[in-house]
Amino acid sequence: MELEAADLMSRKAAAMFAAGLPCGAEANMAKLLASEATWHAADSTLQTHGGFGYAREYDIERKWREVRFYQTAPISTNLILAFIAEHVLGLPRSY
Ligand SMILES: Cc1cc2nc3c(=O)[nH]c(=O)nc-3n(C[C@H](O)[C@H](O)[C@H](O)COP(=O)(O)OP(=O)(O)OC[C@H]3O[C@@H](n4cnc5c(N)ncnc54)[C@H](O)[C@@H]3O)c2cc1C
Repeated sequence: MELEAADLMSRKAAAMFAAGLPCGAEANMAKLLASEATWHAADSTLQTHGGFGYAREYDIERKWREVRFYQTAPISTNLILAFIAEHVLGLPRSY
């Protein structure tokens, strides 16, 4: 469900960008949803493989570590939430 939501929002943002429409909110939401979906997918994969998830030759712990990166770069989850709060929800700037 999370992956589907991320995919749909990514396609919406891409379509808006291609049409020359403002798509900052949609692009930020797509990136946030995708970063969380990949993290949860990798975490489930690690759990499913038990102790073997930590064996380097399976490459699962590497993937688990790597997908966590998307909550930091190219833009962090905190800054996406700050953007949505200010530009989508109309809340005061928090920083
Ligand atoms: C492997 C790697 C490759 C990279 N490649 C590139 C690249 O090719 N090009 C490029 O331009 N950059 C690149 N970066 C940089 C990357 O974009 C930044 O690391 C990322 O934007 C986070 O910024 P920062 O590291 O300065 O962390 P900071 O901004 O110092 O953030 C540290 C923590 O504080 C939080 N935080 C920061 N500001 C706020 C706020 N206002 N409110 C609440 N929380 C806040 C963040 O969410 C985070 O948790 C790369 C980074 C890495 C690790």
